This record gives sequence, C-alpha cells and structure tokens, in this order.
Amino acid sequence: MLHTQNAAPPAPAPFAARRQQIEALRGQFTGLNTPYPRADGTTGPRVYLDSAASNLRFQGAEAVVDEAMQHYANTHSHLHHGARIMTEAYKQAHETVRQFVGAPETHTAIFCGTGVTGGLNRMARVLAAQRPERDVAITTLMEHHANDLPHRKHMREVVHVPLEMDPDGNAGRVDMHALRTAIKEHGDRLNYVAVTAASNVTGVVNPVHEIAALAHEVGALCVVDAAQSAAHLPISVAGAAPNEALDVVCLSGHKIYAPGSPGVIIARKDLFERHEPEVVGGGIVEFVDAKRYDVTPSLPEREEAGTPNLPGSLLLGATLRILQRVGMDAVEADEQALTQYAMSALNALPGLTIYGSHRLEVAERIGVITFNLHDLPHGLVTAALNDYFGIAVRNECFCAQPFVRQLLGIADAKGIAPSDCTDACSTRAQPGMVRISFGLYNTESDVDAAVEALQDLTSRPDWYRERYRPVGDGSGDWVHTEFEAPPAAQFDLLDASDRWLDANAPTSS
Ligand code: PLP
Repeated sequence: MLHTQNAAPPAPAPFAARRQQIEALRGQFTGLNTPYPRADGTTGPRVYLDSAASNLRFQGAEAVVDEAMQHYANTHSHLHHGARIMTEAYKQAHETVRQFVGAPETHTAIFCGTGVTGGLNRMARVLAAQRPERDVAITTLMEHHANDLPHRKHMREVVHVPLEMDPDGNAGRVDMHALRTAIKEHGDRLNYVAVTAASNVTGVVNPVHEIAALAHEVGALCVVDAAQSAAHLPISVAGAAPNEALDVVCLSGHKIYAPGSPGVIIARKDLFERHEPEVVGGGIVEFVDAKRYDVTPSLPEREEAGTPNLPGSLLLGATLRILQRVGMDAVEADEQALTQYAMSALNALPGLTIYGSHRLEVAERIGVITFNLHDLPHGLVTAALNDYFGIAVRNECFCAQPFVRQLLGIADAKGIAPSDCTDACSTRAQPGMVRISFGLYNTESDVDAAVEALQDLTSRPDWYRERYRPVGDGSGDWVHTEFEAPPAAQFDLLDASDRWLDANAPTSS
C-alpha cells in the first residue's frame, strides 16, 4: 500500500492568528510583481487578476521541493537512500492530498498528469466501463467543457440540467428541483451526476453534498469538478453523513498555487478495483512474462504506471500541507471580503454588467467575477487593461461556451445556440466576457487598480477604440495598432539557456 499515516497537522492556531498568517504569505508568490512595458512608454509591475486560469507558485512550497531535490531519485529504485526518501515523500504527498480534501480511508488519491481534464476523462471512461448498463450522465449548464465533453464522449446520453434564476433574473446554482426530476427520470440508467463545485464563469458555488445524496438515492455516483473551488473553499469528500460522501473529486495543481504539478483524482477505491488500468507499464505490475502480466491490486500504484512527476507532486503536497495549516476557512473568509469589496466597486461603475447572481443569500460565490462594458468589446477591454495598466485578466468564453452564450442571451435555456447564429456568435466576433479572479496574493489595491482602469475605459471608449483593431481570427480578441511587446523581448527560453551556459563557461587558463 502506498498510503502511510501522515502525521496529522498540529492543532490549528486561533482563527484570527491564521488570518494574520495569510498577510505574511501574501507577498510570497513567484511572478507577482514582474515588470512589463506599457503602451504609454512606461514600465510597471503587473497586477495579476487571472488566478481562475492558473494561480502563481507559492515560494514556501518551492523551498520545500528544493530541499527534497537534494535527495532526488526514482521512486522505482528501492534500496539507496535517495530512492527511499523520495518514495516516502511521494507517499506523503498522496496522503496530504487525501487529508486536504477530507477523504475517508475508502478513497484513494491518484496523480494523473493533465489536471482536471485528464482526471474527468479518465473517470468518464472508467465509470462507463464499470457500469455499462447505466449509460446516462447528468451534468449542468454551468460546466467547463472538461466536465461536459468527456461525458458526451463516453456515455450514451448526457442530460444538461438548467440553473436557478435569482429574484433579479440572474443565473445562480444548479436548479435543484430540475436536478431532482432528472435524477428520478433516469433512475436505473443513471451512472453519475457530474457537477462543478464552483463555476469558472460566475464563481457561484453548488451544493455538492446535497447533490451526492440525491444521486445516491438511485444508486448513481457523484463526480465533482473541484478545479475552481479547491484554492478558495474548504472541501470535505466525506460530507456530514455517509450518503453525502462524494464518490469522485478532481482537482488541478496549477489552480492551487502549484504550477507544474499533476492533476489529482480522489475517488472511491472500489471504482478501480475490478477495472483494468487505462495505462500499463512499469511500476504497477507484480509478475510479467512473455505471455501474461499481473497488475498490483494496490492503489494508487495500480493507476499510476510510469515514473511519476515527483517535483510537481511534492510541490502540490507541500502547498496543500501549508494551506491546510493556515486553514481553508481562513482563506475563504479572506477571499470573501475581497470579493464583496470588488463586487461593490464594480457594480458602481456605469455601463458595466456583472454576470451571474449578486445575491449571496441564494448563491454563494468564490473570487471569480465576469463582466462586460456596454461600449467596448471584451477583447479590447482585456488588451487595454494589459497594455495601459499592466492588469492581467482573461476574456473570451473560459472553455464554457454553452454557459457564456446563455448568460449573454444568445442560446436558449437548454444551452443550444441558434442554428442561424450570425453576427453575435460568428467566428469573426466571438462572444465573450472579461473575467477578474483572485488568489491569496490579491488585495484591495489590486481591485482599486482594476476599477480605476475600467473607469478610464468607460469615460473615453472612442479614444481606446481608435487605438485597437480586431485580430479577426475568430477569437474575439483585439490588438493595439502601434504598441508591440514581443514575448521574446522579455523572456526567451533559448537565450536564457545560452546566457546561463556562457556565464558558467570554463575560464581559460
Ligand atoms: N473545470 C473548471 C471549472 C475549470 O475552471 C477548469 C479550468 O479552467 C477545468 C475544469 C479544467 O482544468 P485543467 O485545465 O487544469 O484540466
């Protein structure tokens, strides 16, 4: 068995002390203040407001990995010191993930390469193969493509449940009444309900434990996409009661301050037990001859063929351990305060529409806010925030096209785009929004910088419009007509490598 009993973290410090600890961590992320040139000829530090795409690397965990790398060796070697130290540390990384998400012993944590996308694709394949008689999956209309397309690919039928509208007519959580009806309707044929814990478009949080309990009533499973929520909210796989336990949870290391780390599937062990692993090779077999091979029954080894991404896994383990000690309740409180501050400030801007429910009492939100300005396209706003103010945000559809179109009013309640989709959703003028999203490092001054910049854009839209042109490649993006900042002028991989080699050249005698 790979799992060891990790020493439980020491008893948590008082809540106020942990909030203070967040203050001490804020500045300790790589790339937080990187200077970039601006269109007005100045250079300034960036303001990073794109954490929903990927957040920045936590230096504390990086230091832990540097220490570990003194011992680096392959976990498939066994008897020398380095190999034994790495094997043990790798086990600790698995166990830390399991503890971080509050998973019981019935669950395993599997590192699986390509983030939540890899995890959900694998789980859709596994669950379709395990229970072929159950050929329906239910998901919602607020999903990232990663929690929609794999189910379409591997299930016979996928039902998309609509969302609740709040009293202002804005989209909130999944509509629990419609979900209950869909679950009952598909009963015996329902394999699983796949739902996001928090939307990457509106930031709205779903009641995943309530959903798990409903799915379990008909013998179906609950698969949770925690890509967006993991860095922002506490998560408990076990739930408050056995029928609320989540069967599968997937998360991405690059969205929880550990870029370069693998994704993780935390899932019930029995889901893999009778399943031939998708990937076979070294590290997972007990016996091999030219005729047969026997795969180990041990999890997670059985599902992790090949040499693991050890630095990435250790980075994730160290990051989660530190976050666990700070406490995700403190992280959540910190971010809620900043999100409320940002919502109020953005709401006060004339000509700005925020998408999704603003009512916390019916739709809790994480620090993800999407909006449009009435006078300017999303691609122009995003480029101008970068070029004139050094503010990094994301635009377009955030890999959630059905949801974004619906929020923009160019798809029906079932998420279907009109067949004569012309201007509003043509490839020349891709619809979209602008998204601001927060990490632990963001402060009110970052929000103020964004609000001031947006004020400037709304006060003189024509001035900006004259300086930009659409790229015209189907992305909905715009570029400055004159200002250019070629990426290679700031960082060039080959040049950086050559510089290192030159600086370390042998001195001629
Ligand atoms: N699910 C949600 C809600 C996301 O926001 C994302 C990425 O943005 C994903 C899934 C996919 O994550 P990854 O790109 O790490 O596979």
